[in-house]
Amino acid sequence: MGSLIELEKYAQINHVPIIQKDGLEFIINYIKENNVQSVLEIGTAIGYSAINMALINKNIQITTIERNETMYAEARKNIRKFNLQKQITLILGDALDKNVQGQYDLIFIDAAKAQYIKFFEKYKHNLAPKGVIITDNLNFHGLTKAPETIHSKNLRALVNKINKYKEFLKNNKEYKTDFYQVGDGITISKKIEKG
Ligand code: SAH
Ligand code: MG
Repeated sequence: MGSLIELEKYAQINHVPIIQKDGLEFIINYIKENNVQSVLEIGTAIGYSAINMALINKNIQITTIERNETMYAEARKNIRKFNLQKQITLILGDALDKNVQGQYDLIFIDAAKAQYIKFFEKYKHNLAPKGVIITDNLNFHGLTKAPETIHSKNLRALVNKINKYKEFLKNNKEYKTDFYQVGDGITISKKIEKG
């Protein structure tokens, strides 16, 4: 039997950046209200968000991609514990190298923050009509507000990349994005219908 609390504990002890509680609740509500049936997730980690989404109802199908072998193995084990192998398809590999077939109602981008624009541009082609792209960690723990105060060069570069992604979303002519101050900062991007 799987236990979500066990997964949360494991994440905390091992510093796995699983989605925050209110961010998760926000996405779960979106899935319910919009009757989302298919999800493509970029960044599985230990499977926590994928398992939570699959548990909403049995008709939801999730494909999730993870490049780290240790995380992948842990996610595989967890998905089995919850007996969700039929609902969750786990792919090992870099999401920028893999090609996924099919169209998804929801694409959840939650992997390497520096690559967000690339993930968006690549996977928008897998979006179903009226589908949305949801991105997590746009606040990056509050750091995106004042990048000049960050001393570590690498961290500053990462934060600047996240801010570039925000600009990319704001200026996007194809997709309209709403920003939500929930969890660690979440966006919902929808294709603009021409008409
Ligand atoms: N969605 C998870 C948390 C994901 S943490 C949850 O909320 O439960 C981010 C994960 O993305 C890490 O495990 C990392 O290894 C993975 N990742 C980062 N870049 C990736 C890439 N290019 N392709 C696939 N996985 C990637
Ligand atoms: Mg996240």
